[in-house]
Amino acid sequence: RVKHSGKNNYMFFDTEMLKKLKEKVEIENVLREALKTEGFKLLYQPQIHVKTGWMIGCEALLRLKDSPISPATFIPVAEETGLIMEIGKWITKEVILQVAAWKEKGLDLKPIAINFSAKQLNDKEYLAFLEKTLKEKGVEPQYIEIEITESILLERTESTIAFLNQLKNIGVKIALDDFGTGYSSLSYLTFIPVDKIKLDKSLNDKFLEIDNMKVMNSLISLAHSLGLEVIAEGIEEEAQYVRLKTGGCDYIQGYLFSKPLTIEEIEKIYNHNFLKDVNKS
Ligand code: C2E
Ligand code: MG
Ligand code: MG
Ligand code: MG
Repeated sequence: RVKHSGKNNYMFFDTEMLKKLKEKVEIENVLREALKTEGFKLLYQPQIHVKTGWMIGCEALLRLKDSPISPATFIPVAEETGLIMEIGKWITKEVILQVAAWKEKGLDLKPIAINFSAKQLNDKEYLAFLEKTLKEKGVEPQYIEIEITESILLERTESTIAFLNQLKNIGVKIALDDFGTGYSSLSYLTFIPVDKIKLDKSLNDKFLEIDNMKVMNSLISLAHSLGLEVIAEGIEEEAQYVRLKTGGCDYIQGYLFSKPLTIEEIEKIYNHNFLKDVNKS
C-alpha cells in the first residue's frame, strides 16, 4: 500500500497515477494506429570516421509521422505493451529496404544501425524474420548493425548470449549502445559478441573536463585491445571532437556533424566530407 501522510497527499498521488495511466493508454492507441496506417518513419543520423571525415554509416531513429511524442516516451510504452515486437520488425524491414535501395542506386554501401529493445529477446520469430528479409531483399548482413544496451545483459544472461551469438552467425554487426550509463562491468566486453561500443553522451560530456581525459583514453585503448571499435555519440562541441581524435576514437555521431536526417537529406550528404565543416570553423 502507498505510504501517505494525509488525505490530500493520497488523493494527489491517485490523480497523478490516473493521469499517467491515461497518457499510457493514449500513447498505446497512437502506436496501434501508427502500425495500421504506416504512421512511423525513420530518421538517419550520420556516423563520421574521425580520421578522414567521411560518413561510414548511420543510425536509424524512430519517429511518429503525425506526433511530436519522442521515442524516449513512446518506446517504453511499446515495450510494456509488447507492441515493440511488431514495431521492431517494421524497423528492420524498412532499414533493409533502404540498404537495398542504395544498392539499386549504385551507391557505395554503408551500414545502418537499428536499435534493439531488451523485450525483443522474447520475439522468437525475430532471427528468422531478419534472415529471411535480408535474403529476400538481397542485402548482405554486414550492412546491418544491431544496437543493444547493457540492460539487455541484466536478465537471463545465458539465453541472451545465445541470442546474440545467433545474431552474429547471421552476419550482422552488434554495437553496445549507451556505454557508460549503467552497470558497465567492463568484463562484459570479454564474453558478449559485440563489435563496437558506443560511448554515451553523458560520458562524453564528462570528457569535456580535462581531468577525465585519461579515463576516456584508457577506455578507448581497452576497447581496441579487445578488438572492438569505438564510436562516441552526442558530440556537440568541437573540443570533444579534437580530444576524441587525439584519444584514438574511431567514429563520432552528434549534432556537431549532423542531426538525424530524412532519407532525402542523408542522400544529399552521402558522399560529403564532414571534416571540412569542422576545420572551417
Ligand atoms: P540512442 O539509441 O542512444 O540514440 C541517440 C539519441 O541521441 C537520439 O535521440 C539522437 O537523436 C540523440 N542525439 C544524437 N546526437 C546528439 C547530440 O549531439 N546531442 C543531443 N542532445 N542528442 C543527440 P532519439 O532519436 O530521441 O532517441 C532516443 C532513444 O530512443 C534512443 O537512444 C533509443 O534508445 C530509443 N530509440 C530511438 N529509435 C528507436 C528504435 O527504432 N527502436 C528502439 N528500440 N529504440 C529507439
Ligand atoms: Mg542507439
Ligand atoms: Mg545511445
Ligand atoms: Mg539512449
